[in-house]
Amino acid sequence: MSFDLVIRDGLVVDGSGLPGYRADVGVKDGKIAEIGRLRSGAARTIDAGGLVVAPGFIDHHTHLDAQILWDPYGTSEPAHGVTTVVMGNCGLALAPVRPGGEDALVKSFVRVEAMPREALEAGVPWGWRSYGEYLNGLDGKVGINVAGLVGHIAVRHAVMGEEAVERAATDEEVEAMKGLVHEALAGGALGLSTNRNERHFREDAKPVSSRLADDAEFFGLCDVVGQANSGVIQVILGLNKVEHIPWYDALARRTGRPIIWQIVMHAWTQPDLWRQQLEAIAPTFRDGYRAYGLTNTLPIWRRFTIDNAQAFDEFPVWKNIMFLPQAVRHQALRDPETRHKLRADLATTRLTTFHRRWDLLEIVKVGKPENEQFLRQTMADLAAARGQDPLDAFLDACLDDPELTFLTSNTGGDPVATGEILRSPYVLVGESDAGAHVQFDANFGYGTLLLSHWVRDKAVMSLEQAVHKLTFQVASIYGIEGRGLIRSGYAADLTLFDPGTVAPCEPEWAADFPANTKRMVQRSVGLDYTIVNGAVIYDHGRLSGDLPGEVVRGGGASRPG
Ligand SMILES: [Zn+2]
Repeated sequence: MSFDLVIRDGLVVDGSGLPGYRADVGVKDGKIAEIGRLRSGAARTIDAGGLVVAPGFIDHHTHLDAQILWDPYGTSEPAHGVTTVVMGNCGLALAPVRPGGEDALVKSFVRVEAMPREALEAGVPWGWRSYGEYLNGLDGKVGINVAGLVGHIAVRHAVMGEEAVERAATDEEVEAMKGLVHEALAGGALGLSTNRNERHFREDAKPVSSRLADDAEFFGLCDVVGQANSGVIQVILGLNKVEHIPWYDALARRTGRPIIWQIVMHAWTQPDLWRQQLEAIAPTFRDGYRAYGLTNTLPIWRRFTIDNAQAFDEFPVWKNIMFLPQAVRHQALRDPETRHKLRADLATTRLTTFHRRWDLLEIVKVGKPENEQFLRQTMADLAAARGQDPLDAFLDACLDDPELTFLTSNTGGDPVATGEILRSPYVLVGESDAGAHVQFDANFGYGTLLLSHWVRDKAVMSLEQAVHKLTFQVASIYGIEGRGLIRSGYAADLTLFDPGTVAPCEPEWAADFPANTKRMVQRSVGLDYTIVNGAVIYDHGRLSGDLPGEVVRGGGASRPG
């Protein structure tokens, strides 16, 4: 056989979790045709010596529903080895939609996912009604593979119009919503998503529509997914509580479908919560039901000085002082009486997102030469060196050298706990939120961060396990057939990277959104090629411009019914 493409002499890490092996991979007509020591020629050959050849990663928690319409690569996904994305998470989707109902969805996306309204208005060519029509419109127009969940927020608006953000649904309306979910699954949706996050509002300060659904409505819609025997159910409840676990368990048992809930991460302020969550969900799995917790590989870092320390805004006494003019503020921070109040404020037992741990404040920048010895040490080290109480040492040192800069994280900062979370068979790795919060951050690189920080630097799991977590595990749970493994007959979705150097870069600004709006993108290093359905779309930082992506439809689309 003559191949379209042969990838020579790479280390094939095939997505199964089995040990990698040295082999050539032959590609023909968009599929993997043969693996091993290949003798036939090919139209194109890539020398993969020193590189890992892995299945393309599947980024299953994205909000690229709108972006994919003007950016067929969902950039920066290909730079991080992603070949398939799942859109429609957290209840938000661009379909189904009734005539005139488009702006209700824009209002939700703009606020919850922090997308620029101008970009959505200029970039979304409305015209579809059903979820299947939305997906069909992407056929032939995408550079990566796309799949989507139907969002409860859209379903509710499609039936109830603007009353969806005002009141509970009638029985007839719930029946109509069930009809739309059924139609969406038949049209190719990979499942259903919903949102009960009490912090999620629309642009006009109204709650997103799914928050007004009672359990009867929500379980009714989930039953449709169960009856279709296809698809996942993704839920976001907002506050992260172990008391939510029985609800996920009930949903898993009732529908028999995989439930995806978020989020399970180590937090210094609640250091045992992740373990309690995983212990509470274990009986669900032991009984043969599935309710996966979602985790992120990225610690949520904050960087601050004494003059921009928003970390202290959660403490009322601190907050009042931090909002004073600088000279007055510095004066107040020197005052012993004020320090007494600041100390008491920090000692409250109330749950906060700031951990109040001096040993977790790393000094990353100094202004005065005498402080250079403390670079890369912690505030606790500095206090010990000064022989001072840490709070006094912190304030004195900062007032003396206001350029002292601290780096800290409440979430994902404990490598031992994070390692256990990442290794858990009950945990899915993801939450890039790609397409969302585009002017605050970019986390396309959760996979390259797993391979660099967690596998290479911290050795929390093998490379093979990590690749499995990014590929076949996701494909299996979401019901993405024929992708996520390197096997003959599977789609030739591949990524080639150097395991010694692969890493994400710091996010950076780009002005490439519609209406000249800005957003953040993220490059990578050490990731050489990304291949979608046999076509090389990413080659050392360059995108080819080809559109080999396919719409990945769920099993509900093909089943007679
Ligand atoms: Zn989300």
